[in-house]
Amino acid sequence: MYDVKSMRAEEFISDEEIRETLAYADANKDNEALIDEIIEKAKQRKGLNHREASVLLACEIPEKVEEVYRLAEQIKKDFYGNRIVLFAPLYLSNYCVNGCVYCPYHLKNKHIARKKLTQEEIVKEVTALQDMGHKRLAIEAGEDPVNNPIEYILECIDTIYSIKHKNGAIRRVNVNIAATTVENYRKLKDAGIGTYILFQETYHKESYEKLHPTGPKHDYAYHTEAMDRAMEGGIDDVGLGVLFGLDLYRYEFAGLLMHAEHLEAVHGVGPHTISVPRVKHADDIDPAAFDNGISDDTFAKICALIRVSVPYTGMIISTRESQEVRERVLPLGVSQISGASKTSVGGYAEPEKEEEVTSEQFDVSDQRTLDEVVNWLMKLGYIPSFCTACYREGRTGDRFMALCKNMQILNCCHPNALMTLKEYLEDYASEETRKIGMELIDRELEKIPNPKVKQTAYEHIHDIAEGKRDFRF
Ligand code: SF4
Ligand code: SF4
Repeated sequence: MYDVKSMRAEEFISDEEIRETLAYADANKDNEALIDEIIEKAKQRKGLNHREASVLLACEIPEKVEEVYRLAEQIKKDFYGNRIVLFAPLYLSNYCVNGCVYCPYHLKNKHIARKKLTQEEIVKEVTALQDMGHKRLAIEAGEDPVNNPIEYILECIDTIYSIKHKNGAIRRVNVNIAATTVENYRKLKDAGIGTYILFQETYHKESYEKLHPTGPKHDYAYHTEAMDRAMEGGIDDVGLGVLFGLDLYRYEFAGLLMHAEHLEAVHGVGPHTISVPRVKHADDIDPAAFDNGISDDTFAKICALIRVSVPYTGMIISTRESQEVRERVLPLGVSQISGASKTSVGGYAEPEKEEEVTSEQFDVSDQRTLDEVVNWLMKLGYIPSFCTACYREGRTGDRFMALCKNMQILNCCHPNALMTLKEYLEDYASEETRKIGMELIDRELEKIPNPKVKQTAYEHIHDIAEGKRDFRF
């Protein structure tokens, strides 16, 4: 029985409800009156529920699909402006006891190089990341109670926050580790993490169990209920995601929105971010082995519909996607991207040589340097942002949502983006990037609506040029 407020995975992600939703969407995909009604609702910026959004996903009427794209673009502009927040993943360890069939870190893969960073190696990795200009990381580790216990993860987080190389600093560490206990989530919260990210992979229970044949991750309910435990442990910001390509995308999409609705209904705050990875080639993984792969068109439609369905939730695209695909989906609602990512353990300080046995989790499609990514974003009209202000000002969970809902983003995110970009330009940028960036900052400062905030931002930008760092609203 479907119950959005239930704490049981099979009730808040009810298979029956998803099937009925898909049938309803099929029955109404050409119902123009209903589709117009749903689009009208979405225009009020209050989001859509999984049934409404599923109808739009099933709809193939070109003018209606086009209208959804335009609306997604408008919502993105209204809520996120032209800012794109940058981050990098940091792989701590690829030891893993699970058997996920789509990931090369699965236990039975004896071919891949297994590595676990020591604290000294983390210092080298983080120094390399700081020297590129990164301020925000997402740490990743396989599930392995012996090699990667929670104490190891906590020690790594401490080390990362403690490193200050030149003007560098990692100001926000997001964590992507396996589902765990309330007690461990509390420890992560106390360690000062930003978002806790856990991809569901697939919401389809039967497929989930087949794709995770062995290891603790096999337990669908324990995995699906992880975000509730994380929130119980005091973590306000959680990041959802499915791995598109594993099961039918329409099923996953409905499940994803139902999960968001559940968090909102139970905890009063929806997911902080949604990631939309697609299955990629990696060591012993061939994406063609998964027959539910989605085209770039469908991918773009999903991104647009996530934007209109959950306007306040950030959307993340990784370097799994090519420059071309990223360019296509950026205007449709993406708010965060990774840049210059390495998906191997220890890959920033010492990139793997071609002849070496790899420790990569997946092949990176977008191989550009951070400077190239920053330069590219600015040429496309975006402001690359290294902002981490909310979490450091205690604006997490519903306090963060209040910022979005009161539309204070132009008085807050916008100047923060410009100040952190200014830091990047001063400390790390190439000459050409610096020139483009300085002009962009001059233009964009003018757009800050509140005169007091504008004046302060001008002063801080000036102070950054003089060598001061770390201002925020
Ligand atoms: S997806 Fe995560 S849990 Fe599964 S094998 Fe890879 S690292 Fe391990
Ligand atoms: S001010 Fe907060 S919401 Fe805005 S970009 Fe910075 S961290 Fe994100």
